Amino acid sequence: MSSQNIEEMLSKHPCYNEEAHKKFARMHLPVAPKCNIQCNFCNRKYDCTNESRPGVTSEVLSPEDATTKVSYVRDKVPNLSVLGIAGPGDPLANEETFRTLELINKDHPDLTFCLSTNGLNLPENVERLKALNVNFITVTLNAVDPEIGSKIYDFVTKDGKQYRGLDAAKILLKNQLEGIQKAVNAGMTVKLNVVLIPTINDKHIPEIAKKAKEMGVYIVNVLPLIPVPGTKFENLRAPTPSERKAIQDQCGEDIRMMRHCKQCRADAIGLLGEDRSQEFACISKSCMN
Ligand code: SF4
Ligand code: SF4
Repeated sequence: MSSQNIEEMLSKHPCYNEEAHKKFARMHLPVAPKCNIQCNFCNRKYDCTNESRPGVTSEVLSPEDATTKVSYVRDKVPNLSVLGIAGPGDPLANEETFRTLELINKDHPDLTFCLSTNGLNLPENVERLKALNVNFITVTLNAVDPEIGSKIYDFVTKDGKQYRGLDAAKILLKNQLEGIQKAVNAGMTVKLNVVLIPTINDKHIPEIAKKAKEMGVYIVNVLPLIPVPGTKFENLRAPTPSERKAIQDQCGEDIRMMRHCKQCRADAIGLLGEDRSQEFACISKSCMN
């Protein structure tokens, strides 16, 4: 069991609390390579846009190596407060995520654990995550209307079967909403990430924010689409900063908005906006002397 209460964790979480982001560091553990859906803005050669800017994660770590690396990084980054699992695929599509959480619970129980997901496998995993002291969950929810969702997702794989079109969007949305509600009811602090995709979901985002408020979500983060080569959305344009701000302002009438997100890599380390992942890229014993 974590020795901290939620208020204390919130005060040191650089993403959920803007005040904390210049003082406390986070470390993403890239232990989850597989994904169970295909977003039309994601090219897996790059990285998970759930929580990252384009740029391949430097490495995928085993749970054991990730835990060893945390100990090493803690010596050099004393203000580390949060360990997050954010990809490079979907954390809940990888059993390694749970093994990692077990190991870091043993070795680093004083840190705060955070996880991001597309939500497809969230309903059946909320209790398991809670038991592993994950108190902060981010769900990427780009539509609360399956018609709009069907334009954003190419396919969804659930229980060994692949779904496309409206069927895929309906399954994903049902599980996202059920998972979010379960997580909130379990006392977790939930953040939504919403990718702002011009001409696809831009007018729809205030509706997502209203739904978030209704479900007890803590904060909403509107991220700009990064048109990545090789994706269905490669020819869409990124939203302008003023378009994003206008949507943040509109949604902000309903719910707390995150406005300081840096769209970090899946292996980011350090303060937000200060990526030290390359400094810690080598984790073999000889490198750690
Ligand atoms: Fe890519 Fe993440 Fe979407 Fe999976 S959930 S397809 S890794 S952006
Ligand atoms: Fe925080 Fe945004 Fe970086 Fe995620 S991507 S760790 S929410 S700043």
